[in-house]
Amino acid sequence: MHLKQLTLRGFKSFATATTLTFEPGINCVVGPNGSGKSNVVDALAWVMGEQVAKTLRGGSMADVIFAGTANRPALGRAEVSLTIDNSDGALPISYTEVTISRTLFRSGGSEYAINGSPVRLLDIQELLSDTGMGREMHVIVGQGRLDAVLQATPEERRSFIEEAAGVLKHRRRKEKALRKLESMTGNLNRLSDLTAELR
Ligand code: ATP
Repeated sequence: MHLKQLTLRGFKSFATATTLTFEPGINCVVGPNGSGKSNVVDALAWVMGEQVAKTLRGGSMADVIFAGTANRPALGRAEVSLTIDNSDGALPISYTEVTISRTLFRSGGSEYAINGSPVRLLDIQELLSDTGMGREMHVIVGQGRLDAVLQATPEERRSFIEEAAGVLKHRRRKEKALRKLESMTGNLNRLSDLTAELR
């Protein structure tokens, strides 16, 4: 599995559609200060489902939408698509090429898609979780992130490893199942109270 292509439209400084094509192995993005290199990395995190605006170096999520310049008006939506080569079947989906897309409208709405079909954020998170490219984004090591990892508490370090190993997905499913079980127990208790009253 490797990243094949990233297309940004209206995302941060990329007002017009811009496509980066990657090859297997190491790829470098070079450019002068402020030319948008970190915005490319932000776009990768964003399309994979990042929900924290601060992680994307913004105050609110709408900050990812092109805000306009002196000679170009602001745009109403940001769109990023990431194509992943899945010929080794690392992603649990029967396509050799998978494109995940995310769109955010300035009016507030947001959309996700896998190979052009609308999906929920959860579907994208689940698709990526077994690859280690999960919700906590430990595959993206931004500036200053290495320090944070080195200074992490043992619990935090454990969650990094769990995410990379794909354990976190099962932990979340377990938590969800336990919550359901708890509410079912509540319902059963209410039912037995009602039965007792009716007797
Ligand atoms: P450096 O090498 O200094 O780290 P860089 O190439 O990583 O720089 P970025 O931080 O990716 O640069 O890009 C910064 C530029 O993106 C700034 O000029 C900033 O104004 C612009 N920018 C960020 N968000 C938006 C937005 N929503 N709309 C328009 N431009 C934006």
